[in-house]
Amino acid sequence: MIRINITCIVLPILSSMIFSCTNYSEKKTEVNNDKESILVPEFNADTAYSYIANQVQFGPRIPNSQSHKNCKAYLSKTLKQFADTVYDQQFNQNVYGKDLLFTNIIASFNSTKKERIVLCAHWDSRPYADEDKDISLAVLPILGANDGASGVSILIELARQISLNNPDVGIDFILFDGEDYGKSHDRYNYFIGSRFIAEHYPLQKPKYAILLDLVGDKDAQFRFDPLSLSSHEPLLRSIWDIAKELGFSQFKSETGNGVADDHEMLINAGIKSINIIDVQLVGNIDENPRRKYWHTSKDNMDNIGKETLYAVGQTLLTFIYTKSMYIY
Ligand SMILES: [Zn+2]
Repeated sequence: MIRINITCIVLPILSSMIFSCTNYSEKKTEVNNDKESILVPEFNADTAYSYIANQVQFGPRIPNSQSHKNCKAYLSKTLKQFADTVYDQQFNQNVYGKDLLFTNIIASFNSTKKERIVLCAHWDSRPYADEDKDISLAVLPILGANDGASGVSILIELARQISLNNPDVGIDFILFDGEDYGKSHDRYNYFIGSRFIAEHYPLQKPKYAILLDLVGDKDAQFRFDPLSLSSHEPLLRSIWDIAKELGFSQFKSETGNGVADDHEMLINAGIKSINIIDVQLVGNIDENPRRKYWHTSKDNMDNIGKETLYAVGQTLLTFIYTKSMYIY
């Protein structure tokens, strides 16, 4: 790994990259230009897919449930294999008359580096399938294969790749708890983990944060989130530009609908943040009938596509190794 002056060479570098979207074998892609070369690891979508399946097999990850405890242990143990330090930020909060234990899981690389970035997602799943038209299903919790587990799985695979070849930036992965606990329209009881960590930040504050949510659908479409544009437009455009250079058509360079999410809590605490989210799923407004599964019992492995995991993961790996250190 070498330091490069990104302003003058990143575009030629990116345009010369060749990635295979169908070959998920582990390899590094060497990016050449006239003078320098950068090694960008190749994201393994098979491994990322298995990390989703592993989370889902615990069942719904509802605070205070055994599945939630088991999944937390799995996530901490897995991240400990890769990160320099893993820390559970635990707190209790009374929600809807229940005393609940929440845990934000924080895995850090290059812990002594002052310049840091955050990559984050939520690891809990929703306690109610309240968008389900079948009333008997609507009271049950969801598996959250896409709503929660997909973002976490991409982060774990990124952590695994970073452990093999450390980039020149400090990285903190944060898995938020309690993102999806709120009943419909009760905004205060959503984003419980991200609100807590934003108010009790246990680390050196990062330059910026990148949130992943709903990032695993077979036919995913990622548009500019309006709040992300207002918080850090250069960061957002940089990531979409990389995806375009790599030929990932899931990333559309146009503004989509706005949506409240964990990044808003970080922004409120002064941390510039963007959200990569397939927002057409939210509210079940997409025309594709298969894609109308948000907050229903159908948010399962059937909707997950390895091509999408690869597109998001490879875009982020390329960003981390070539541009993350040059954006503030
Ligand atoms: Zn949700």
